[in-house]
Order: sequence, then structure tokens, then C-alpha cells
Amino acid sequence: MEAKTFVPLMERSKGFQELKRLIVDQGLCSRCGSCAAFCERLEMTEQGPELVKECVMETEAIKCGDLGTCYDNCPILSYSYADLDEKVFGAVREDRVLGHFKKIVAAKATDKAVSESGQDGGAVTALLLCALEEGLIEGAVVAKRNDGWVPEAVLAKSREDILASVGTKYSSTPSVTVFGRNLNSHRRLAIVGTGCQITGLKQAETGTLKVLLDKKKESENPFNLIAIGLFCYENFMYSKFKAKVEEVFGVKLEDMVKNDIIKGKIFIHTKDGKEHVKPVKVFNDIVEECCLLCEDFTSSFADLSVGSVGSGDGWSTVIVRSDKGEELLNKAVEKGYLEVSDKAKPEFIKKTEASKVKKREAAREKREKEGKYLPSYG
Ligand SMILES: Cc1cc2nc3c(=O)[nH]c(=O)nc-3n(C[C@H](O)[C@H](O)[C@H](O)COP(=O)(O)OP(=O)(O)OC[C@H]3O[C@@H](n4cnc5c(N)ncnc54)[C@H](O)[C@@H]3O)c2cc1C
Ligand code: SF4
Ligand code: SF4
Ligand code: SF4
Repeated sequence: MEAKTFVPLMERSKGFQELKRLIVDQGLCSRCGSCAAFCERLEMTEQGPELVKECVMETEAIKCGDLGTCYDNCPILSYSYADLDEKVFGAVREDRVLGHFKKIVAAKATDKAVSESGQDGGAVTALLLCALEEGLIEGAVVAKRNDGWVPEAVLAKSREDILASVGTKYSSTPSVTVFGRNLNSHRRLAIVGTGCQITGLKQAETGTLKVLLDKKKESENPFNLIAIGLFCYENFMYSKFKAKVEEVFGVKLEDMVKNDIIKGKIFIHTKDGKEHVKPVKVFNDIVEECCLLCEDFTSSFADLSVGSVGSGDGWSTVIVRSDKGEELLNKAVEKGYLEVSDKAKPEFIKKTEASKVKKREAAREKREKEGKYLPSYG
């Protein structure tokens, strides 16, 4: 006769083994860093998360801690937009691409040095400077640009640190790991991230982290976490991006001063004042597979999402989603960090997302034929 268990309803959580099998080993990891954010047994590498200590789920544990498992936070595994919308915004979105929003504006930093060095209008940098200098946050997790454009996720705690992070790096960084690990010592933090990074963070925030966040809500020092999302069409592994720029443009990343992908073209500006242009399709063979499957162009679970498309040159498009996001935008305008205009054109945002559909369908069809894991976000 089969032995009866004392806890028949307690299901074993899915842990790292399953995450590795479905995502990392299948080349689907975006290296967002969400899985390693709350587990010191994992460290991030350019290939994805790696175990550096024994995973307790691989021994006898049913669950690995109060903060849940790495598996629960992964934004590439299947999840439901409707469920996460309910948890983050309290209602399901009406517009799949734009997500929840209160308004969509064009914005630009009033400080010329910021707007001119920023990727578009320098809006992200102006928002972060305002949040820091007005005491809303102690710091922000950003992607610092090291020599050779090696991106590094860092906690920026000063004006200088924030200014050192301006501009787009078309390579992923495990920003959510840096964010999660700093929550032990900070209560008020911002993060800048692409859609997958913000989704991973929101899964943690509305999942098992919620107990901790709620517990401190009424305390004298409650958490204030601000998520600034970036529109994101696709991303590249740094080593592949570096090799490709050298191969296609004959340019070393050490000599690049700015890169931009606009309207199907990639622009590389170099120290000698030259502009190099090629169709972005020359990069097709190095686009990450998770990006081909990705449906969240506008980083739709953030408090504010910022992108280039939808506003004129020198402006950033800002989608204001939450009360917290709206308060920060208003403060940045009131305190003179940011100038806004109502000239944003959301139809261009939707057009850009629509251009991903064909690639997405082809990638899904190929995976299906090969019998590979196919996440769904219905
Ligand atoms: C991989 C990627 C692809 C993108 N694709 C599009 C697109 O197709 N269409 C579009 O309209 N916009 C896209 N964007 C957004 C756009 O490039 C700008 O980041 C956005 O318009 C904000 O500009 P800004 O001048 O306000 O930012 P800035 O003031 O220059 O600040 C940029 C901020 O982004 C952070 N950052 C830069 N790179 C990364 C990164 N890899 N990961 C996490 N944080 C980072 C920086 O640390 C900084 O805080 C993309 C961004 C990324 C990172
Ligand atoms: S201990 Fe838990 S969170 Fe850490 S690697 Fe294992 S399953 Fe993931
Ligand atoms: S959580 Fe992010 S870093 Fe971890 S496996 Fe998933 S995509 Fe990769
Ligand atoms: S395209 Fe999607 S999966 Fe790829 S980096 Fe951007 S948000 Fe992440």
C-alpha cells in the first residue's frame, strides 16, 4: 500500500534545475539578473546565472526561503500579463502594447549638458537626478559605461555616478541582481531597466518580496522602489556586439562615442567625429533569442517607461503609468529638471512593436518544430 504523506498539499517549488533546463540551457536567458537577486548561491556571468554554492532545492528542501526561488522571478518563463497587471496596477490593461498609462509625453532635460549627452532627451538621467537630489531615493541602479562600452550594473549614489551612466548600451547587464542585493541596506531605490528586467523585478516585488514590503509600509522608513523602464526592441551579448561592430564597421568600441538604432539603421559615432551607418539587419544573426520572442517593447510594468520612438530628435518619449511615476515626473518639471511637451505620438510606438511580429512568429514556429520550450505570456 502507498505510504501517506503528512503534508499532501505541500508542493515542491520549482528551482534552479528547472530554470536552467528551460531557459539557460536553451539559450533563452536575457541576463536580467532577477534569478540571482535574492539568492547568494547564484552569480551572474555573460552566459547567464551559475551556481557558486550548492542549491538547497537540489537536496531535500521543498522551498528555498522566504523570498521564494529564482524560478519564480524569471521574466522569460511563461507568465500572464493579465495576472501581473492585476498585481502591479490593480486592473488588466486595455492596450496590449502601451500597457497601463495615465499619459504619454515628450520630455527633455533642461540642463543642456544632460540633454546633449543623453541618448535621446536625457529624460531618464534628469528623472534620476531629481529623485536623488530631492531625497526620494538613496541611489539608482544604472548601467555604467566602462572603457570599451563594457556595461556594468552599479548602484549610483551621487550626481557624478548618475551622469557617468548616460546613453544606451545595447548589451544586457544583470541590473536586478544589483538592485535585489542592495535592498538589504537601502529602502529607497530606483532602477533603470529593459522590459525583461522590470518584469523580473515586479514578479519578485508582487510575489514573495511583498510580505517584506508590506510589513515595512507603516514603519517610519518604508520602502520606496521606483522602476524606470526603457523601450527595447532587441539586445545583444556584449562580446558578440563588440565583435560585430569591428567586423561590420571596422570600428573598435574603445573609439565609439555614441551608438543608436533608429528606423532600421544602426549609427556608430566615433572619436574622430565620423558617423558610420548600416542597416540594423546586419546584426540579425546576433540578436538574442529571448528578444525575438519578447512581447514587452514598452517595458509595460514600470512606473515610467522611456524611449526614443514617438518624439522628435533630442526628446525622449515618456509613458507615465503609476501614481509614483506621475509624482516623479511632476516633481522633475516643478523643480526645473525636465521640460515636457504633449507632442508625443503613441501610434509610432505601436508601429515599432508591430514590426517585431513577423520575427516573433518565425522564431516561435522554429522552436515549435524543434520541440523546444515555448513560453507564453497570454
Ligand atoms: C537594449 C536597448 C534597446 C533599446 N531599443 C529601443 C528601441 O528600439 N526604440 C526606442 O524608442 N528606444 C529604445 N531604447 C531606449 C533608448 O535607447 C533610450 O534608452 C531611451 O530613449 C532613454 O533615453 P534618455 O536620453 O532619456 O536616456 P539617458 O538619460 O541617456 O539615460 C539612459 C539610462 O539608461 C540606462 N541604460 C543604458 N543601457 C542600459 C542597458 N543595457 N540596461 C539597463 N539600463 C541601461 C543608463 O544607465 C541610463 O540610466 C533601447 C534601450 C536599450 C538599453
Ligand atoms: S537555493 Fe533556491 S533560489 Fe537559490 S539557486 Fe537554488 S532554487 Fe534558486
Ligand atoms: S531570471 Fe533573468 S538572468 Fe535569470 S535565467 Fe531568467 S532571464 Fe536569465
Ligand atoms: S527585447 Fe525583451 S527580452 Fe530582449 S532585452 Fe529587450 S526587454 Fe529583454
